[in-house]
Amino acid sequence: MALRFFNTLTRQIEDFQPLEGNTVRMYTCGPTVWNYVHIGNLRTFTFIDVLRRWLRYRGYRLDHVMNITDVDDRIIKESAAAGKSLGEYTAVYTQAFLEDAATLRLERPEHLVRATEHIHQMARDIRKLTEKGFTYSSGGSIYFRIASFPGYGKLSHLDLSRVHSESRIDSDRYDKDNARDFALWKAPKPGEPFWETEIGPGRPGWHIECSTMAMEYLGPTLDIHAGGIDLVFPHHENEIAQSEALTGKPFARFWLHAEHLIVDGQTMSKSLGNFYTLRDLLARGFAPEALRYLLASVPYRKQLNFTFDSLRAAATAVERLRNFKLRLETEKFPPGESGALTERTRQALAGFEAAMDDDLNTAEALAALFEYLREANTAMDRGEFRAGNRAAALDLLTRFDSVFDVLRPSQPPPISEQEIEALIAERNAARKARDFARADRIRAELFERGIVLEDTREGTRWKRR
Ligand code: AMP
Ligand code: ZN
Repeated sequence: MALRFFNTLTRQIEDFQPLEGNTVRMYTCGPTVWNYVHIGNLRTFTFIDVLRRWLRYRGYRLDHVMNITDVDDRIIKESAAAGKSLGEYTAVYTQAFLEDAATLRLERPEHLVRATEHIHQMARDIRKLTEKGFTYSSGGSIYFRIASFPGYGKLSHLDLSRVHSESRIDSDRYDKDNARDFALWKAPKPGEPFWETEIGPGRPGWHIECSTMAMEYLGPTLDIHAGGIDLVFPHHENEIAQSEALTGKPFARFWLHAEHLIVDGQTMSKSLGNFYTLRDLLARGFAPEALRYLLASVPYRKQLNFTFDSLRAAATAVERLRNFKLRLETEKFPPGESGALTERTRQALAGFEAAMDDDLNTAEALAALFEYLREANTAMDRGEFRAGNRAAALDLLTRFDSVFDVLRPSQPPPISEQEIEALIAERNAARKARDFARADRIRAELFERGIVLEDTREGTRWKRR
């Protein structure tokens, strides 16, 4: 069966193929850098990472753009409260986001782009929308007239009879009951940052940022546009209106949306104050791989109910996978090959792949893997697992880990005194043999693992950093 995704636009599962050749052109909405990202945000970004990795697993190349929203209503408010310039304020949280993404092993998109570096392109697009008759001005701001775009509401399946046409909304975030003409360009307010552009002074609304940056890098029609479920309305609805009004072409073929991470039945959000950051969880002693596993293990179209029990269970699952890998790498198995196990390994891989092809059903994919783990462990205990079964089992784990990426521990395991002494002895031997490159490598390796060497007349001493 082919790779297929649930498309929010058609509300159907559809076979996926890129429009042109082998490259998937994808745009995903990135963070609004007014604070640290919380693990709800990271749920959506982990889904996007799994999506990326599965597309590549299936042989596609990626051309993926993710934006950093570094100007919007909230950022302006928070930076003013902190007494900092927009740039100073967002630099801190942009950097923090990049660090958190790296800690969680989220791949860098091919293009990571900042809204404030594309203001003039946004102004150009707003001017074009005005020339085509989709906008009107009021008090120095420019609004998109939703009644002028016949497809308005097609993504969120909005009931247009309830829309307040000819009334407008200035804020970037609002709900379906408030569907109105929205701001493309906001007139400068006293004390707020603004840019001088061909359409006058001001700053862009949130929605135009993504339309402009997506088409700037990927052309008028994207293969995939993705984000969290809360973005369907109004953000993505407005992106469609702006982009299709500009080009007359479909903006994105597939729209994928991740359901929210919730706590105690409520969505995790900074405004509600019920959030954890990755940093909070690391401080409580959890490994990033445990969180990555937890976030990836619940299929993205299901809500993820976060509990510390589920995080502990995720850590245990990662441990089991690592132990299995260690057995495969270190145990002696009887020679030959068990045909039954060869067949089981093949089935497990087929089950894993079929589940991932089915709209990234990660729960089913993991079930296929763990069923195999159980049987293979039992077979090892009984001496039925043969040396000839090792390679295929390791290959299965490698394929799993190319998507889930949890097998490698984040920090090297603590080093024992015997290991330290052995490495020092090796280094001394290398120095005697005048192999200084090797000696230096050993010193560096020890340093990486937290051990500092000091060469004295009495010999080499060490201490923990
Ligand atoms: P924001 O920084 O608010 O623009 O959000 C960044 C991303 O996180 C967007 O794709 C949101 O849809 C997503 N998001 C926000 N809250 C949650 C949540 N509780 N669970 C999952 N995704 C979320
Ligand atoms: Zn966006």
